Amino acid sequence: MDYNPDNIFAKILRKEIPCDQVFENDFALAFKDINPQAPIHVLVIPKGDYVSMADFTAAAPDELIAGFFAAVGKVAKLLDLEKNGYRILANSGDDAHQEVPHLHIHIFGGRPLGPMLTRL
Ligand code: 5GP
Repeated sequence: MDYNPDNIFAKILRKEIPCDQVFENDFALAFKDINPQAPIHVLVIPKGDYVSMADFTAAAPDELIAGFFAAVGKVAKLLDLEKNGYRILANSGDDAHQEVPHLHIHIFGGRPLGPMLTRL
């Protein structure tokens, strides 16, 4: 899928619309999900035009790939989730119900999260 620069996370990255930011560096921006599914629900997005994990890992420079994943770990620590635990998740494509076509990793925590997938 071609990257659409009008997607909502691209606008957040360009600071055209606000977000409740928790972390930013040269590689990533992390902010609270607008519709949280857990007491802590933060999204981490790479600074670059990537739709999916496959797209990102194939096309992004190594420094950005490493920097992005390091940022996810830093944010989990920053949110004080190491002790009790947390879940990370990235939806890609229609079957996964990806709503925003800019790669993002969800970080969930703050309560027991139950089984990995809800039975459909
Ligand atoms: P997806 O289904 O694509 O993995 O998840 C997209 C997530 O982005 C959803 O959890 C949704 O609540 C969140 N989201 C959508 N629009 C906005 C927004 O404008 N601001 C923030 N902070 N989160 C958003």
